[in-house]
Formats: sequence, C-alpha cells, structure tokens
Amino acid sequence: MKQSNEITHHPHHKQDADPLSKNQDFKEHHDLFMPNVPLTDIAFNYGKECYLYDHDGEQYLDFVAGIAVASLGHAHPLLRQAMTDQAYKVVSVTGAYLTTPRVKCAELLINQSCMDQVFFCNSGTESIEAALKLVRKWSYEVKGHEAHNIIVFGNSFHGRTMGAASLSAKRSKQPEFAPYPAGVLDATFNDIDSVKKHIDNNVAAVFIEPVQGEGGIYPAKRAFLNELRDLCTQHKVALVFDEIQSGMGRLGTLFAYQSFNIEPDIICLAKGMGSGFPIGALLSRKEFSEHFTPGSHGSTYGANPLATHVAHTVISTIAEPEFLKHVNLTSDYLITGLERLRQEVPCISDLRGLGLMIGIEVTCPVAQAIAKLRENKLLVSQAGANTIRLTPPLIATQEHCDHAIDILEQTLLQF
Ligand code: PLP
Repeated sequence: MKQSNEITHHPHHKQDADPLSKNQDFKEHHDLFMPNVPLTDIAFNYGKECYLYDHDGEQYLDFVAGIAVASLGHAHPLLRQAMTDQAYKVVSVTGAYLTTPRVKCAELLINQSCMDQVFFCNSGTESIEAALKLVRKWSYEVKGHEAHNIIVFGNSFHGRTMGAASLSAKRSKQPEFAPYPAGVLDATFNDIDSVKKHIDNNVAAVFIEPVQGEGGIYPAKRAFLNELRDLCTQHKVALVFDEIQSGMGRLGTLFAYQSFNIEPDIICLAKGMGSGFPIGALLSRKEFSEHFTPGSHGSTYGANPLATHVAHTVISTIAEPEFLKHVNLTSDYLITGLERLRQEVPCISDLRGLGLMIGIEVTCPVAQAIAKLRENKLLVSQAGANTIRLTPPLIATQEHCDHAIDILEQTLLQF
C-alpha cells in the first residue's frame, strides 16, 4: 500500500453541502438532537481570538469561551500548529505505552504543582469520577471498609455522570435519576461548622470548587479553606479541589489553589487545559495515588498523544509569568469597569468572582437579559438562578473588556 506523509486532496471528492451555509430557521436541525441541551437560534461558522462568527459573518464577542474552555481564544496559531504537528506523528496509542506528549504534559503539570502523579482522561466529569474512585479505594485500604463518605457543598457542581451527579447539588432537584450512589453528606459552603458536623472516621474525602461556577460564581473564603485544610489533615480526610472551571489560569494563577495559598491532596482539571480540545486530568499526591493499583481504573482515550500534545502547548503558554500577569491585569481592568457599571445599572445586585471568572447578579429575569445580550452580540452564560457569568478567553484585552462593558451597559439599562 502506498505510504505518504503528504495530505492528498482528491480532486473528484465531492464536498458535502454545508447544512448551515446561511442563517435560516434552524428548527429542523434542532430536531436532530435530543432536547436535553436547549439550543439557541444561532449557528456559528468560525471563531478568531475572542470572537465567533455566524454564517452571515455577524461577529459576537465571546465572553463564554465554551464556559471557561477556550482559554487561548479561537483558532490560536499555537493550537493549530500543535494539532497539525501531532496529527502527522501519531494520534492513537493505548494507555500501556508512553509517548513524548504524554510524558511532557505530565511533567509540566507535576513540576508546576504540589502534586506527584497524573491520570489523564477526557472531560471534567471523568476526572471527578476518577477522583471519587481513588479516594474511596485509598480510604478503604487505609482507614477501613466503612470509611467511604464524601462531604460536598450546597450549590456545588461536579459533573453529570452518576458519580459526579451524586456529588452535585442538583441531585436533589432531579429525583428521576435516583438512586444516586450513596455516602454523600451535604455541608454549607464557607461554613466550617457544617463540615465539622459531618467529619468522623467514616469520611474519605471532601470535594470542593475553590470558586463555585455553575452554582453562581461564589469564591471560597481563604480562612474557610485554611480551616478545611487543617480539618482534613487532622482527620486523615482527602481534600479534593475541583479546579475544572477555576483552574488553568482562570483565576490569574495556573492552578486555582495557588490563588488561595492552600494545598489540596487531589486536583481535578479539564476545560481550559485543552483550550477546546477534549482532555481532563486527575492530579494527586503519591500517598493517595499509589492506591490506584493496576486495573483499578482506566480510559481508552485518556493519555491520547494528540490531546496531551495540545494540552502541553496550552498549559505551557498559560504558565508563562507574562501570560498570567496579563490575566491579572485584564481581570483588574474588567472588575473595575464592572464596579463602575454596578453604580449606574439598577438591576445589578451583586458582583462576585476572581480573575476572569466573574458573576454579575441581577434582579431582572436573567435568561431574558442573556438573550438580549446575545442579540446585542455579546455571549455570556448563566450561573445559579440569577447570575450572568463572564468567562472570557484568557487572551482577552482591555479593548475586549470595554466592548463587553458597553454592551452590558446598553442592554442591562433596559431592564
Ligand atoms: N466540575 C466543574 C466545577 C465544572 O464547572 C464542570 C463543567 O461542566 C464539571 C465539573 C464537569 O466537566 P465536564 O462538562 O467537562 O464533564
């Protein structure tokens, strides 16, 4: 068989017609998909830096970024290069074999953090599932067969598969999926007494988002995290940070825990680490991860060389001090602008967040406000019951922030 490294274009290959080649009524296309993810009436054609473009070439300022995913914005040259380079080398090797990207990405994550070992997976929810199995196994072997309880917090969100859903506050609103895995105890975010009430010899781990995302953008208080760290150490309980949304530069530090000066035992990552390429990771201190013995867990795509090469490119870009400095400066600029807006716009009731993970709480109907912002060409997402969430690409500039604030002002003043 002919072997070639060249891309071969087949002159007679008929290009399929693009079903979304122009803006139209997309209803018939909506029906192709299960209704679990509500669709808007916009279809995007391409993206560049902080903007997305529809089929009419209309430009939207993207302050969602896939919900804290497209950390380097859209079509970043480094990302395109990384994908192309690796596509020419190898894109599929099972987890039993090392590849250079896998090793480099693991070394980078370990060298930049307080962690010792990595397990790669494909998404946030999978890194939570892996963490859940890891802490249960560690606890079973170290503390005893009964020590399987997990403490979680009101308003938390850790993912949508059954294990991750069992740790998320939404489970109480979705009884139709019951029974959920048992052994989950609810505490109150930023309330250490509510954790103390549950801590005993049967607790394996505490799972916490350092900044709650889906729940409405609520940062943990530093004093609370300090006490939580001490409590976990004292009772030999694993402290798991879900940094899936808040990690990878989003708070102005590479890892979210570095913004709080508290070291967890285990970290879950995904979203921004691939800047759109699907990848997740579980990081752990060896004391815990050495219990993840052969056969206890795995993933077909987990250590995929294409995913790890892209992630290595993204993480090493974000980890540059100049890049993180830019994130911090942009964050200060955006928050100052939003504080000013808050004085002028009556329906803004609160402003919360850290870095480029910001929530604007509103008293007006939030879904309507978000739809209006979209009409005015600013993309944002909802968090909690009444909060507009801003998670722009980390490459956003002061000009992008000015543009977003202008649209927010024009739009929210009408409510
Ligand atoms: N944990 C947090 C804090 C998240 O924001 C998300 C996002 O959806 C998840 C877990 C689940 O990640 P994924 O959607 O990649 O499964």
